Amino acid sequence: MLHAIPKMLAAYMEDLAVDTAQGAAAALAQASQTDYDAIISDIKMPEMDGLELLVQLRAQAPDTPMLLMTAYDEPETAIQALRGGAYDFIHKPLDREYLVASLGRALQVRQLRRQVAAQQAALERHAAELESMVEERTREAQQALRIRDHFLSIAAHELKTPMTSILGAAQLLQRRDAADGFLNPRDVRTLRILVQQTLRLHRLIISLLDLSRLQTGQLTIERQVVDLAALARRVVEEMGTAFERHTLTTSIPENPLLVTGDELRLEQVLYNLLQNAIKYSPRGGALAVRVAAEERLATISVTDHGIGIPAAAQPRLFTRFYRAENAAAPGISGMGVGLYVVREIMTLHGGRVEVASVEGQGSTFTVWLPLRRGTPAGA
Ligand code: ADP
Repeated sequence: MLHAIPKMLAAYMEDLAVDTAQGAAAALAQASQTDYDAIISDIKMPEMDGLELLVQLRAQAPDTPMLLMTAYDEPETAIQALRGGAYDFIHKPLDREYLVASLGRALQVRQLRRQVAAQQAALERHAAELESMVEERTREAQQALRIRDHFLSIAAHELKTPMTSILGAAQLLQRRDAADGFLNPRDVRTLRILVQQTLRLHRLIISLLDLSRLQTGQLTIERQVVDLAALARRVVEEMGTAFERHTLTTSIPENPLLVTGDELRLEQVLYNLLQNAIKYSPRGGALAVRVAAEERLATISVTDHGIGIPAAAQPRLFTRFYRAENAAAPGISGMGVGLYVVREIMTLHGGRVEVASVEGQGSTFTVWLPLRRGTPAGA
């Protein structure tokens, strides 16, 4: 067989190189050195039979098709060979045509497997390149973000002191004028604009400072007992003229509504929500502030009948620098920082903030805080 088969094949297939090995151990040794396109083996062999050789070769060179030769009267062995992963079985005595046809197919299969393996390797290389490119870009983007945050933090720190001085000086002038009336009406108006705009700038700077404090974990909460009802009344009163162009209704209980928290930060939360309600609703629009106790929670909600928020934008509303398209488009200015700060403050208080909104109809922002024990029932 070792002589006959190579001869037989050479007559039918050009350019075919055939190595022979005497016994399974020698075949295994050769197959570990050479990447064969196909292997033909007898099943009956001394020491290690063809089926065992098949098992070992499949472990060693899984892509190399193997043809096993069985006698006509051993159909069981042929089936065993196929089950073990043989590519085909050849009956003995050999039928040349069949052997050549079967080997031809095995060689094609081997070639296809090589191509697939090469393509797979190319794909894997490409995927690895893409992965490292994505990692590189991510590193660059993160670095750019760090630089931006650092810049914003420095800018906010540097701007805060001169801004506070300007605001203080302008407000001092306003107080002196209120006492002496030394400014003419035109200058009073100019001074009011100066104070309003400086306050606006001041608030932007404070937002940026809060942002950088949140980034570095430095935004801390000073805990004390806070009456949310009184706090809401105070904020609404202090914002007074801001509601000039809207109709505000409030529902704030007379009784105290006690929570534990940072008074200034909670004021900031309500202030931000009210500012947004004013900013994102038209002149004359109705606004409502409602403070209430619900089970063990105190809640404040701010409702407007303004531009509303598209449903798709709502899940991202409380992330840094996010602005919904319908807010950015009409040219309403903003940085997308306020709600992020609101959410962080609420989280630091063990509370939460949620939005219910319909685009074009209006929004309600609601915050919840745990009530202090002993808050009078029905507060
Ligand atoms: P800013 O108002 O400075 O953009 P915020 O963080 O306060 O930043 O708000 C984020 C975004 O949420 C806004 O840009 C706007 O798209 C949307 N938004 C907040 N409040 C309202 C509201 N009352 N009505 C409609 N959209 C709002």
